[in-house]
Amino acid sequence: MDLGIAGRRAAVAAASKGLGFAVAQALAGEGVRVAVCGRRADTIEAAAARIGSDAVPIVADVSSPAGASGFVRDAQAALGGIDILVANAGGPPPGNFASVTVDQYLDAFELNCRSTIAMCYAAVPSMRTQRWGRVLAITSIAVRQPIPTLILSNTARAGVTGFLKTLAREVAADGVTVNSLLPGLHATERIAALHGGGGDPAAGIPAGVIGDPTDFGSVAAFLCSEHAGYLTGTALAVDGGADAALI
Ligand code: NAP
Repeated sequence: MDLGIAGRRAAVAAASKGLGFAVAQALAGEGVRVAVCGRRADTIEAAAARIGSDAVPIVADVSSPAGASGFVRDAQAALGGIDILVANAGGPPPGNFASVTVDQYLDAFELNCRSTIAMCYAAVPSMRTQRWGRVLAITSIAVRQPIPTLILSNTARAGVTGFLKTLAREVAADGVTVNSLLPGLHATERIAALHGGGGDPAAGIPAGVIGDPTDFGSVAAFLCSEHAGYLTGTALAVDGGADAALI
């Protein structure tokens, strides 16, 4: 299916590897011009080269508002504007109430909530003016069902989901959609680090396997497509059926 976004311009944050990289690759496969960021020049340049010859590597740390909005501004400058924003970042460290300090919540808020807010403040006004835009945030299945060992992620993702839902309704009439994807377990370095201690990572996943980032990228590309123009304000789990809730 032609997604109808060839020639569109996308800024994909935190995309040197993992889910962000897979989303950037999927968008590039649809003919979208992409700018990607990561914190290190060598890794983001290598990632951009693998995505395609016209992918733009940008060194940015999105864990501060200046870094997050700076990435969007650099992407706008490099691509002549952006039509698609994929807001993403690394995940916060694991821990529970007993092990995590009060100050760590602030770091998690910066990384997994305020970064997305800052990127939206930088990207959405021009999307509204041009009356076409797609904002897609990568959050976590923890939004649907908090994960006991990831209290920082659970807390920050809930906040950003509230922001995204509010934004979606405010800008819907301007042709801008705002959605989030909630990954369950996908084969990335973060998941290898969190679940590397043995056991079957696919236990409890009805699909019987953990997700392939490439498939996650395909779902993301559809949400950024022309066809998804009436789909906004959603928080969609991509989890092989792991979330057992009815809706
Ligand atoms: P990953 O494999 O660890 O990749 C993280 C990416 O983010 C890398 O490209 C990393 O590049 C970049 N990054 C990290 N911190 C950054 C920062 N401050 N500024 C800019 N770039 C940054 O992680 P992933 O598995 O793809 O996960 C992506 C997001 O989805 C995370 O928030 C994660 O918690 C969430 N998530 C993932 C899963 C899963 O199954 N994979 C499940 C639930 C939630 P550099 O290190 O080069 O900067």
